[in-house]
Amino acid sequence: MEKFHIAIDGPAGSGKTTVAKRLAKRLGFEYLDTGAMYRAVALFLHENGIPPEDEDRINEVLSRSRMSFHCGRLFLNGREMGEEIRTAEVGILASTYAKIPIVRKHLTRLQREIADSRKIVVEGRDIGTVVLPDAELKIFLTASVEERARRRWRELAKKGENVSYEVILKQLKVRDDQDSKREIAPLKPAEDAIVIDTTKVTVEEVVGRIIELVEERSK
Ligand code: C5P
Repeated sequence: MEKFHIAIDGPAGSGKTTVAKRLAKRLGFEYLDTGAMYRAVALFLHENGIPPEDEDRINEVLSRSRMSFHCGRLFLNGREMGEEIRTAEVGILASTYAKIPIVRKHLTRLQREIADSRKIVVEGRDIGTVVLPDAELKIFLTASVEERARRRWRELAKKGENVSYEVILKQLKVRDDQDSKREIAPLKPAEDAIVIDTTKVTVEEVVGRIIELVEERSK
């Protein structure tokens, strides 16, 4: 098998990251977290005082910027974008900057370059619909918004972030709304995506099901 693209899309908290990472490990594929790229760019633009409305400056800055991955770590202009991009606030910022066409254009191009002729699991919102429309396998993960908020809450609590469940639920709804209603590359399953509801199934079950699908498609 030469190239094999697995697109994993879905809303925040649907289990994408856990499933995609485990899947990549089990299959020996590479893994790309496109959400991290949107988070890094959003934080960078925000810190530099460049508002989402200023598309010319965003274009100029992104054209001069360099984003790269080393051993799964993300760097933007030489700076490692680590835990600071993982907060709920940066999630909302990412969702706001992700509506801007020029931001999507830059990141989509880079994501395609990275995936190119590789065996790779790519997770995001628009991978099956826009970034890799010819992916060999497209999965769309869903889960109830309450379950997704519970997962996020547990994740943040583990890291010592003290946020209430209600606040997280509200933030998730804002992001769901922004991500699915934007004009360009909205969050939605590709027509040929397989939709898996993860509300009541374990990560292992989801990964097992996807591996079966990969085996079927590589025959
Ligand atoms: O997946 P994650 O929650 O880290 O993504 C953060 C935000 O980045 C999402 O809410 C979404 O607005 C944006 N995003 C996107 N397209 C992608 C990946 C992420 O618009 N492929």
